[in-house]
Amino acid sequence: MAGINPGDDKLVFESSEAVSVVSTFDDLGLKEDLIRGIYAYNFEKPSAIQQRAILPITQGRDVIAQAQSGTGKTATFSISILQSIDVTVRETQALVLSPTRELATQIQSVVLALGDYMNVQCHACIGGTSIGEDIRKLEYGQHVVSGTPGRVDWLTEKMRSSNFTVSSMHGEMAQKERDAIMAEFRGGTSRVLITTDVWARGIDVQQVSLVINYDLPANRENYIHRIGRSGRFGRKGVAINFVTVDDVRILRDIEQFYSTQIDEMPVNAAELI
Ligand code: ADP
Ligand code: MG
Repeated sequence: MAGINPGDDKLVFESSEAVSVVSTFDDLGLKEDLIRGIYAYNFEKPSAIQQRAILPITQGRDVIAQAQSGTGKTATFSISILQSIDVTVRETQALVLSPTRELATQIQSVVLALGDYMNVQCHACIGGTSIGEDIRKLEYGQHVVSGTPGRVDWLTEKMRSSNFTVSSMHGEMAQKERDAIMAEFRGGTSRVLITTDVWARGIDVQQVSLVINYDLPANRENYIHRIGRSGRFGRKGVAINFVTVDDVRILRDIEQFYSTQIDEMPVNAAELI
């Protein structure tokens, strides 16, 4: 791992396929009215996970993004959704599954804020509110629906046209909720999975092509459970790890444990695709 500068965050990747890093919102090729909303929301520059995940998501790849809270994951999938929908068609085109009502409401406000100049319709289907109101809103036509799994199950009939689903899971979720979200992802209904380390194990989804690890797992056994999410059964997969100088020791340990070499991400990664 030549070239690690102390104190610098570095990226490494394995596999022959490289992933682009897009360091400005302008370079992401986003719609103008979306860019306007992003800047109006006072985002100046994409965060590390946004620089790497928005492009593959909008290109239709299956992505798992794992990162600590506060790193910009919600904004990552909100921007990706807004970029991917056609607001001239007033139908549900994106479905976000959220473990809690509060989070669903929060996601709705982020989507509405970033999509402020897009005339986007976004409704949160959550428990504790009138189901009649949900139905009225869905019949009117909602581009994006943010919901809790139980409530969304009730309303599936209204949401058949969904073609872009994001699932998010966190540590406090009950096994039943976790299973429901995994079933969505496994069945291919949901293409993007946002998760923390707790849930990495046991996820076995063939179509995943990119895993981004914002941090290294606490133990080396967990590493394979994380990156093993992509490139299964001979398919090509890419894993990107964010590594600080303090992590190099752990990375070396992982390399030795799996008898493999994890290379530094080349500067010209984008050109290699
Ligand atoms: P996560 O879902 O990973 O917890 P969020 O997407 O909720 O992270 O973002 C955390 C905070 O950082 C929020 O207040 C959000 O508005 C802000 N944020 C996200 N992306 C950016 C960005 N590119 N520039 C500035 N602030 C950002
Ligand atoms: Mg979040």
